[in-house]
Amino acid sequence: MSALKTILLDEIAAHGPMPLDAYMARALADPEHGYYMQRRPFGAPNAEGGDFITAPEVSQMFGELIGTWLADLWNRMGQPAPFALVELGPGRGTLMADVLRVGQVLPGFPESAQVHFVETSPALRQAQKQAVRKDVTAHWHDDITTLPAMPCLLVANEFFDALPIRQTRKTASGWQEICVGAKDKALVFAPQDIAAPRFSEAAKACLPEILENQAIVETCPQGEAAMEQLCAHIAQHGGAALLIDYGHASKACGDSFQALKEHRFVDPLEAPGMADMTAHVNFPLLAHLAEAADLDAAPVATQGAFLESLGLNMRAQQLMQSSPGRETQIQSERARLAAPDEMGTLFKVLGVAHKAMPPLAGLTLKTDK
Ligand code: SAH
Repeated sequence: MSALKTILLDEIAAHGPMPLDAYMARALADPEHGYYMQRRPFGAPNAEGGDFITAPEVSQMFGELIGTWLADLWNRMGQPAPFALVELGPGRGTLMADVLRVGQVLPGFPESAQVHFVETSPALRQAQKQAVRKDVTAHWHDDITTLPAMPCLLVANEFFDALPIRQTRKTASGWQEICVGAKDKALVFAPQDIAAPRFSEAAKACLPEILENQAIVETCPQGEAAMEQLCAHIAQHGGAALLIDYGHASKACGDSFQALKEHRFVDPLEAPGMADMTAHVNFPLLAHLAEAADLDAAPVATQGAFLESLGLNMRAQQLMQSSPGRETQIQSERARLAAPDEMGTLFKVLGVAHKAMPPLAGLTLKTDK
């Protein structure tokens, strides 16, 4: 039994079932036993161990294309210097290392960038420091509120899906909140009747039109707060954000809570702290919050369409020419990132920007400019 499971069983025995977001927060971010407080969640199967693999870890092409997107936008927005190059939840720092490498080709871009990471895990902060140490001196933040007062270009890949969710179920007679309780020394889902759901006004505005009996509504208060903070920051200081995650592009409901360990789905209640836990990101809600903060939000794109429009195919061809013998691997990395049955469709891209920004490459052109 994981150490954290024993602790949580004791707490539930003393205080009763805990809401799912409280459970997920402990499982991922408990200072001692939380999953992200350990060193090595990421990695390819068999090669590096790890429990799951993210796009920047699949291929350098991902970070290179994002880097080109950022450098191009910086150029077209008038080359602000200095500007904050921000990443939320940078994991091993691979994405930023690729961004900084490719950013060297645009004179002025690397010199003007101040790199800021928002990261809670001390172990992952160390990994990020290692990843970018050749290129820059980076700054770390516990949350978005302490980012510097300057224009900002922000990227977040698989950040919002790692934030704790609540699940609320509609029933014939009212509502239940899904909580985690205990039975025979095991953690179990324990729905609790509640008088009314704890939805924010923004979350309410983004619910599907019809909620069937037994429908599960997932909400992510911490994700909403993070989005509100980052949008307020961009509204005040200028810039844009590129948010990439797996989730739904239109209003939806349903249970998407899942846990991964060693690249396999596992029971999320089996061993808290030992497996990664995620849930789908509600993109309509993130876009709604951006617009409420007076930013522009581009229509949500799929990761596959976005990367292809930025030149994924061309970059793959170049790499294949310059690395003979790696053709098959590069083709399979491209497919992994962009094919509809891999990450291409499930993963979505949302671009949000200050109203004074030029159009965002690879995302639908703004019609009002
Ligand atoms: N972007 C990386 C890692 C994704 S995993 C990649 O694509 O490979 C999620 C990341 O978010 C981890 O770095 C984790 O430590 C961080 N994280 C999770 N919750 C956080 C929070 N509340 N504040 C800041 N960082 C958080």
